[in-house]
Amino acid sequence: MDNLRLRGKTLQTPSFFQIYNYGGGFGHKTREMVYADLTGDTPALFNYYYISNKFPHMFESSEFDNLGKYADIGEALTAIRDRLARENIYSGCKYSPFDFGSKVIFLDSGAANIVNYLAEKNGYDEQAFNEELCSAMRDYYDFADRYKFDVVAGFDLGGKYTFKGGELKNAPLNCFLNRLDVDATNKMLFDKTLDYLKEKREYYPAVLAVVHGRTPADYADYARYIVREEEEKGYRFKGFTLGGVASWKALDASWFEGGFDDRLSKRTAAPARAATAVRKVAGDRPIHVLGGGGYENIALNYFCGATSFDVATLSRRVGDGNGLSADFMFSKEPLPREAKFGKAFVGGYNSDCSLRREEAGYVAIDRIPDDFELCGCAACKRVNSFYDIKKLYSEKSNDDEAFYYACQLMNAHAVLQHRKLCELLSGYDDMDTFRKENPTALNIALNRIYNKIKEKDGE
Ligand SMILES: [Zn+2]
Repeated sequence: MDNLRLRGKTLQTPSFFQIYNYGGGFGHKTREMVYADLTGDTPALFNYYYISNKFPHMFESSEFDNLGKYADIGEALTAIRDRLARENIYSGCKYSPFDFGSKVIFLDSGAANIVNYLAEKNGYDEQAFNEELCSAMRDYYDFADRYKFDVVAGFDLGGKYTFKGGELKNAPLNCFLNRLDVDATNKMLFDKTLDYLKEKREYYPAVLAVVHGRTPADYADYARYIVREEEEKGYRFKGFTLGGVASWKALDASWFEGGFDDRLSKRTAAPARAATAVRKVAGDRPIHVLGGGGYENIALNYFCGATSFDVATLSRRVGDGNGLSADFMFSKEPLPREAKFGKAFVGGYNSDCSLRREEAGYVAIDRIPDDFELCGCAACKRVNSFYDIKKLYSEKSNDDEAFYYACQLMNAHAVLQHRKLCELLSGYDDMDTFRKENPTALNIALNRIYNKIKEKDGE
């Protein structure tokens, strides 16, 4: 498939998007911005809920209060990073300027948080909620246009069909969400999106229509519905994005019927099956899988028709590490139960594209040998050995910034490994050849799942 031409930028096929959650957390989230230069022009995904400052929340950054003075989001993020780096950079790391605008920048709505906020704000009154949701949708699209994001995901309810976790503790909210007709609300948002875009002929970002559904058959139906509506209303989306299939735990059992119930299939088959269904009607348009960029997902999703992905796992595994663990990096004392080490991504490829010996996965930093072979990426090049990363991590009690730097080196290394996989995949036309030339246990297992998907869901 061809690369995606955007206004003035190109998105490679396939591509991995690094998620930036500054505005949605402190500590690591701030340093993701500061060390953005480590991943160069790797595409970036931002979350509207976190950066618009329209919905009060505890991590809100005042940096986003004054976006109005910038021409576009690239210029704004470049200036914000400059300011953050003045106070939050490791003393042993030389600051270098970086143009955020060199990245393809994707805006996702973070709609689940917006939905919760608006439900509560409107006293769980459905009509008032719907009205304000539509107005939030227009604000979101206006924001993406005003700040010239390269790509924007369609606005929907956030792709969730079952609500659990923190929301359960809030009984009125939970009751409201269960009462909400998810399908009807998403359809209403889609129709209003089409109306909005039909009027805005000069709209800047490439808009991706969100496809969702409870079952594989729903996905195919919904994709066809989108194409029919496009034809009827005379508007064509730039591409599609798949919402709600990345987290297998919340999915309908029908996704796993027909032999997709082993551990790896559970984690990979649903987004790949959704991509297969949507590819049949998408023609040569791009398909982005929200949350579908885990290392074990990328190759399968790509060969099933997806063209770009993102995932939060990389920074989450780094963020697993807490300050308490730092003091125990080189200590012989037993680790307190509350102490948790951050995890580094291992496996993948070296910078010369040779396959690494170890299988891909995340390993707690204290369990990685001091002389572990570095991959040669821009992050690994900053140190002489893996021991250097462990040493920086261990310095937390004297120097917070050394710890954060170590974590961001691990994060950027993981991002660059996901990017490298995408770059290598672009050279292959089919899963069989890719697996034969890259015969890892993961690829062999993915090839089997791929064949089963093709058998079940067809070409
Ligand atoms: Zn590396």
